[in-house]
Amino acid sequence: MHHFHFQNGQLYAEEVPVKEIARKVGTPFYLYSAATLKRHFQVFDQAFSSLPHLVCYSVKANSNLAVLRLLAREGSGADIVSGGELYRALKAGIPAEKVVFSGVGKTAREMRQALEAGILMFNVESLGELKVLSRVARSMRKKAPVAIRINPDVDPKTHPYISTGLQKNKFGLDLETALEAYLLAQKDPHLEIVGIDCHIGSQLTEVSPFVEALRRVKAFLQKLKSFGISVRYLDLGGGLGIVYGNEAPPPPEEYARALIEELKDLDVTLVLEPGRVLVGNAGILVTRVLYYKETPQKKFIIVDAGMNDLLRPAFYNAYHEIIPVVSRKRPLIKADVVGPICETGDFLARDREIPQVKPGELLAVMSAGAYGFVMSSNYNSRPRPPEVLVSRDQYFVVRKRENYARLIAGEKIPDFLR
Ligand SMILES: *Cc1c(COP(=O)(O)O)cnc(C)c1O
Repeated sequence: MHHFHFQNGQLYAEEVPVKEIARKVGTPFYLYSAATLKRHFQVFDQAFSSLPHLVCYSVKANSNLAVLRLLAREGSGADIVSGGELYRALKAGIPAEKVVFSGVGKTAREMRQALEAGILMFNVESLGELKVLSRVARSMRKKAPVAIRINPDVDPKTHPYISTGLQKNKFGLDLETALEAYLLAQKDPHLEIVGIDCHIGSQLTEVSPFVEALRRVKAFLQKLKSFGISVRYLDLGGGLGIVYGNEAPPPPEEYARALIEELKDLDVTLVLEPGRVLVGNAGILVTRVLYYKETPQKKFIIVDAGMNDLLRPAFYNAYHEIIPVVSRKRPLIKADVVGPICETGDFLARDREIPQVKPGELLAVMSAGAYGFVMSSNYNSRPRPPEVLVSRDQYFVVRKRENYARLIAGEKIPDFLR
């Protein structure tokens, strides 16, 4: 459910016509709906209300400060994967004690920052990382709260680039090495075992892989118990999918029901790290048609947003629905919707049935709230687009459009070239 809807043939975000925002801020731009973000968080959180739980929004899905602040106000914690995300989360008002730190490549410096802030736990992904974390904690005369990320080796049945819980993936530790990590942590005076963690992938459209992963985590917890190790937090990661086209992911209630059923005999606080499911359908990318072009083989709609603005189609061959912002009767054509970037991979849609829009018209690329702006770049020296947040009948530019000066900020011509 989201708050982008048509009224008198015009696309609205909540109570504001998208066309009006385009006129004021120019194109392309990202547009988020505050009511949608709020609702998504509440539905997800309430689905787990029958057990002790903490929702740690996965910051990497959309890290705009305004989005983080909105979620913080709803009670969300944060799942971070870098020092930069820690900085953002704290700036946005997410309490450190609701922050979990994931990722295979944490640096000693990032660990120090997180320990200093007092985060809830480090989801440790290798023996090497465990060693470094212990050293950092010792140097600070602290005890680092630790969970080991295990790799349960279940197939999430999603795109290979976003599957993370298979033995061949770089994430987490196999069960044998994970046990070794727990035993090392148990003896280490600078580490405190507080949790166990797994995250099997993204855009999952079935509940069964989550349940399977949870069963394997539970079996592993039994084993830990025999070594006198127990945990307070069971972190099941994120990964619940959303509707982009014709997927039918389980609603949060169904996902929660299946997990709660498995968890009722355990005395742990469940930690969840949803990203996409909270923000994906709360955002769109608005772009303007520049040109229409036909070759002997194909039709192209050339728009002013490219793969530098929205990478998912080029990167994952991802599907995003694309609709005209002003609907009227038009013939349907089959065309590629492409950007201005000098790459063949620069497309938003391929061989898509789409109304025949003319240059100057606006298109909305739907479901672009997750892994949209955060993956944008300056490739082809294109300033990144602004982000706009709508709330009821008002809109706010929550990140301004970059300008040319910003493009070269930090660059320098060395003396020998002067
Ligand atoms: C990316 C990621 C998430 C969020 O995944 P979604 O599919 O967006 O819900 C959660 N936890 C970890 C460790 C991640 O890397």
